[in-house]
Amino acid sequence: MIDFRVTILGCGSAKPTLRHFGSSQIVDYGGRLFMVDCAEATQLQFMRYRFRDSHLGHIFISHSHGDHCLGLVGLLSSQSLWGRRDDINIYAPFELKDILMAEIGFFVKNPGFNIYLHPIENTLGSTLYEDEEVEVTAFPLLHRVPCFGFLFREKPRERHIKRESIERYGISSVDDIKSIKRGLDYITPDGIVIPNQELTTPPTPPRSYAYSSDTMPNAANAELLDGVDLLYHDATYAEAEASLAEAMCHSTARQAAEFAVMCKAKQLMLGHYSSRYKTEDRLLEEAVKVFPNTILANEGLRIEL
Ligand SMILES: [Zn+2]
Ligand SMILES: [Zn+2]
Repeated sequence: MIDFRVTILGCGSAKPTLRHFGSSQIVDYGGRLFMVDCAEATQLQFMRYRFRDSHLGHIFISHSHGDHCLGLVGLLSSQSLWGRRDDINIYAPFELKDILMAEIGFFVKNPGFNIYLHPIENTLGSTLYEDEEVEVTAFPLLHRVPCFGFLFREKPRERHIKRESIERYGISSVDDIKSIKRGLDYITPDGIVIPNQELTTPPTPPRSYAYSSDTMPNAANAELLDGVDLLYHDATYAEAEASLAEAMCHSTARQAAEFAVMCKAKQLMLGHYSSRYKTEDRLLEEAVKVFPNTILANEGLRIEL
């Protein structure tokens, strides 16, 4: 099975603390690295967890608050210093386009690589990236500025072929095996149709990961994220600060858990913690009461999907 893992580089919120770094994560799909958000010092965290620069081709920025994007220009500048040659694609809300182009133009002079900036428009489920195996779609979040979540989802897999059936019917042609894996029936040289169900078992369900920060609970996204394997959700505050969460357009841990129930997530990871908490135990306690399979994000945490 192809590796599909998420590594947390930072899960704090806007006010700096020595306890957490600002928001950033790496989604590794089969060795292709996708960065989600790029707070200050992200490039140091990227080095600390020993990711390879050349494998990083796509950076997704959720919104224009500094705790999600102030590390981007520094990271690009360092890539240039180290002689990067591979293209890099940046996906960011449309309102960031001009400022990012100006900053990159000023601070990253004559990079030896192409930087492509893709503005994200305000549409639910728009595909930002896809290849043969995985796709990344954006979904709108409810925050104080235009803000997007990102869904990483494998494409539907092929059916598993039953070795004993293949041997029984003497199927050896590569083309026949490929079409059977895609779900087609097999026709023997004598013209007998062998139903696909007799030759295969169902494919492994596609795996998925959703990043949903910063945001108030947004029920409109539940259908798109239905059944997601791992959901990372804004859990800036505990219930005692619920009115502050609403005023700042963030979520409480309990609201994150309620959203996980709504979209039938298999696992919830809380993050984007307010600097006011010395530990996140209370956030976890409040979420687990609603959605038991909840974990706390932490720097260096690596989840295999
Ligand atoms: Zn934030
Ligand atoms: Zn924000």
